[in-house]
Parts: sequence; C-alpha cells; structure tokens
Amino acid sequence: MIKGKVASIGIGIGKALILDDKEITLEFDKVENPALENLKFNQAMEASLAEINELYEQALSTVGIEKAQIFEAHSLILQDPEFLENIYLEINENHHKASYAIDIVSRRFMEMFQQIENDYMRERALDIKDVSHRLLKKILNINSVSLKDLSEDTILIAQDITPSQMVNLDLKHTLGIITEFGGKTSHTAIMARILELPAVVGARGITKFIKTGDLIAMNGDSGEIFINPDKETLHRLMEEKRKIDFQKKELQSYRDLPTTTLDKRCVQLEANITSPLDVDSVLKNGATGIGLFRTEFIYMDREFPPTEDEQFSIYKSVLERMQNKPVVIRTLDVGADKKIPYLKIPNEENPSLGLRAIRYCLKNKSIFKTQMRALLRSSPFGNLKIMFPMISKLEEVLILKEIISECHLELRQEGLSFREDIKLGIMIEVPSAAIMADLLTSHVDFFSIGTNDLIQYVCAVDRLNEEINEIYDPLNPAVLRLISHVIKVGEETNTEVSICGEMAGNEKMTQILLGFGLSKFSMNPSNILRIKKLIRVLHFERARVVSKEVLNLPSSSEIKNYLNSAHDKINQLSKKS
Ligand code: PEP
Ligand code: MG
Repeated sequence: MIKGKVASIGIGIGKALILDDKEITLEFDKVENPALENLKFNQAMEASLAEINELYEQALSTVGIEKAQIFEAHSLILQDPEFLENIYLEINENHHKASYAIDIVSRRFMEMFQQIENDYMRERALDIKDVSHRLLKKILNINSVSLKDLSEDTILIAQDITPSQMVNLDLKHTLGIITEFGGKTSHTAIMARILELPAVVGARGITKFIKTGDLIAMNGDSGEIFINPDKETLHRLMEEKRKIDFQKKELQSYRDLPTTTLDKRCVQLEANITSPLDVDSVLKNGATGIGLFRTEFIYMDREFPPTEDEQFSIYKSVLERMQNKPVVIRTLDVGADKKIPYLKIPNEENPSLGLRAIRYCLKNKSIFKTQMRALLRSSPFGNLKIMFPMISKLEEVLILKEIISECHLELRQEGLSFREDIKLGIMIEVPSAAIMADLLTSHVDFFSIGTNDLIQYVCAVDRLNEEINEIYDPLNPAVLRLISHVIKVGEETNTEVSICGEMAGNEKMTQILLGFGLSKFSMNPSNILRIKKLIRVLHFERARVVSKEVLNLPSSSEIKNYLNSAHDKINQLSKKS
C-alpha cells in the first residue's frame, strides 16, 4: 500500500492508465524551405484553436465559467500578434523548423512572464507552456492518450494532470485520479472536488510502482492506494464504496430537515472548508453555516502570499454565497505539517511546538495585517466571524485586538467600509487555553475546540506519526475531560462553543459530545447529513447520562466498549426510523 495526500474524497476502483507525458525532444536543424514550415505551423495553430474552443465548451458545462476561462486565455495566446510574429520570424529569418521556433519563442515569453512581480502574470507562463505543448504535439504528430472515450473503469495516474486533461475526462469511466505532484489546492485537486472524483495527490514515485493495466483501489478519504490488492482488501473497499454510494443517495432526504434530538434539543451543523469551491458542497449538504474556513490553503501552491485584494474577493464570495449564514474564517494557520515554503519558517526541532499559526502571524505582522484588512473589508457582505488558531495565552489575544484596532484605523482613514460588530473567537487546541478557558471568555465572543491538535498536545503525541498512532486517542479520558470542561465553561458564561476538529464528524463521538452540552458541530461537509440523521434519533437527556458515565471511566478501552454498545443501540434505532 502506498500513501499520498487526500485531495478529493471517495473510493475508486479500476484499471490503471498511466499518462506518460514525456518531454518532447526537438531538433535544431535549419530548413531550406520555410514555406513548408509556415504551412505546418498554420495547420497546427488552426487545429489547436479548434481543440481549445471545444475544451472551453466542455469546461463550461462541467466545471463552470471560472475554470473554462483558462481555455479562453489559451485561445488568446494562440491569436496574440506578438507571439505569432516572433514564431514566423524564427521560421522565415532564422530558418528554424516550426517546432523549434514554437519552442524557443514560448520559452522566451514564459521567461518574460515569470519575471513579472505579479502572480496573475506569472501564472500566464503556465498557460503558454500548455499552448506550446499542444502546438508541438500537433506538428510532431504525437497522439496523447485519449481520455474522452475510455473502454473500462479507469484510475488515471500521472506525474501531474493538467486542467485541459481534467475537462476532457470520460466521467463515466474515470473513477479516480492519482498524481505524483501537487497538493490539495492544485488545480487537479480543486477540479476533482468539483467533479466529485476521488483523488490522491503527492503520491511520490507512484508512476514507477504501477503499470498500465494494474488493478488499483484507492481511498480518497485516507490517501491509501492499493496496487493489485488481494481479494480481501478489494472486497472491503468495494463494500465500503457500495455503502458510501447508497448512503449518499439516501441521506439527501435529510437535507432540509431540522437537526433536533427526539426531546427537541436543537443542534447546528456547520461545515469546514479549505477553498471557496467547497461552498457548493456546503450548500448541497444543508450546513447551517461555515464553522471553519482553513485559509492557509489559499496561501499554498503559489510563490507569494495572496494579496489583500485577492483575499478580499475570496472572503467576499464565500460570505455572499452563504447569504448571511455564519461564516467563521480562521486566520493563517501555517507551520508544522502545513508548509508554505515562501513564508520561510526556519527548520525547527519540534515544528508542532514551534513557530506556527498565530505565533508566526504575530512575528510577521505585515502578512497578518494584509489578511486582517481583507477580512474586515469583506465583513459588510455577510455574517463574518474571525477566529485565531493556536492561542496559548491571554497576551496573544490582547495583542491581536490591538492589531485589529490598527487595521480599523487605517481602513477608516482610507475610507474603506467594514463592520464594527464582527465576532472574534479563538481555537481551543492548546491545553493551556483549554485549562484557563474561564479566564479567556471575557475577551472573546466564541470558542471552537480544535480536537485534532488538542489530542496531540494533551497526549504529547505527534498527530502525523503513524508509529505511535495508538497514543493519539480521542477517547483518552484526559482529552474528554478537557473538552467537557471547555463546553461547561461556555455554558456557565454564555460563551458559544463549537468543535471543528475531526471528532465533530465522528459518529461514535456524537452522543457523548451532545451529552457534554455541545450544540454546534463543524465538520467536512460530506459528514453533515450522516451526523444529522444520527442526532435525530438521539435523546439529549439520555446523552447527558451517557456522557456523565463516560467521564467516570478510567481508560480509553473501557470508554470504547461502553460507547460501542451505546452506538449499536442507536444504530438499531436509526434503522427503525
Ligand atoms: C484542529 O486542530 O482540530 C483543527 C480543526 O485545526 P487543523 O486540523 O487545521 O490544525
Ligand atoms: Mg489545529
């Protein structure tokens, strides 16, 4: 089994098709007859333009106008007088072959764009590369594997898959994609999510381990890739897939139903997102709001931080699409496993305990202020709440508030509008913050418990270290006691508390969290309807009793046994409903 990074959830099983996009090799030979090369170039250009127009139409109907615009840009490059003039010049004056002329002119233009201090222009260099590749393939008669008409269920495997390839997919037969490169915010990952296609990215070396025709089973939820899996694994994954597909259909009937227990306790189910594109899934699953927008993902897969205006338009679009439902946007949580090379966090002995999240932001004020100004400016467009990650002491909150006041002052002086009443909250994910939650309540409007980190810090176990994974235990009594403590503080001080770590979407934990008094859960949108269905057959008062009993159990294994039997009982109830 090989593991990559989770990019788009779901299980895919099919035959491997390796997209072997070899580097094209070109000959430098001079030609005697430039007219023939002009003709070759013109034909390649026309064929490419026709192909790009077709791709544009396909993209419009599959992934929408925003992504389709990539092909509009490609078409403009192919008709750009300066680009064309340079190619004709290389052919006619320097007697280069058409292929060689395309290559050197594209490289020249790419270099030019790459040097411009503007992200948008730098991205145009990639468009030129894509266009020149298309032209070269036409001239050199290189036929790419057609992805449009596959004859069997297929998992596509490649070093990287371009947007052009993504919109060209035969969605009936493409059941998953795996790439060697790229991260969660690569175009491939983003488009895979829109297309609801399971995807694993960053699977280094995968193209060397797999041959076309191998049977592949991949799990987009865990990043696991099985090559020619044994019968048992295959059966397990097929079974899981069948269950997921069935549940997905069945759960849609819960979308507009209220999330209330049998004894009428109301619960809010919000969604975690990493990109504005995830809002589709938030709405499809009927979330009552966004409880966590992990903004660090908009800083990834690029060379410079997003500008204030770029961020403003992202936050504004999310707020507008959520139509006044609450949207909690968390400020940059960089560091530890979330590496962003250009932010230049030094190598540290213990990155999880080091310069991450709010610690980085407080030491790099201008980056933080850019984000804060963008957030404030977006506030008139919806119901924005701002949240700070990794708070470990009160002083951090006080400094943050000073910086926010500075931003207010600047925006006022610049005549830019913002809301004065934005709710400010903190992640409770460091034990010190959890222990002194009562002392923090008067300084913030809400808490959101980040169980992913809270577990790692309470149990002193690296959340990424597979070797000692059994110590990373959501059921460790200390973890549960701390969570219960924070929720109780919230109840006593009328401070809103939610949970946005993975625990919120874990069915086995629902009853106990509800019993602790939690009434706001934030999770991956794809978990929402499943948790809603479960809560609708739970009894709040019974959950209170269960959670009280759990808090008295001395070990995780005893808690596990207790919850399993409670969960079985609920499952029976759920099946009857
Ligand atoms: C958490 O720590 O629980 C959390 C939600 O934040 P992240 O997983 O992004 O660290
Ligand atoms: Mg965290």
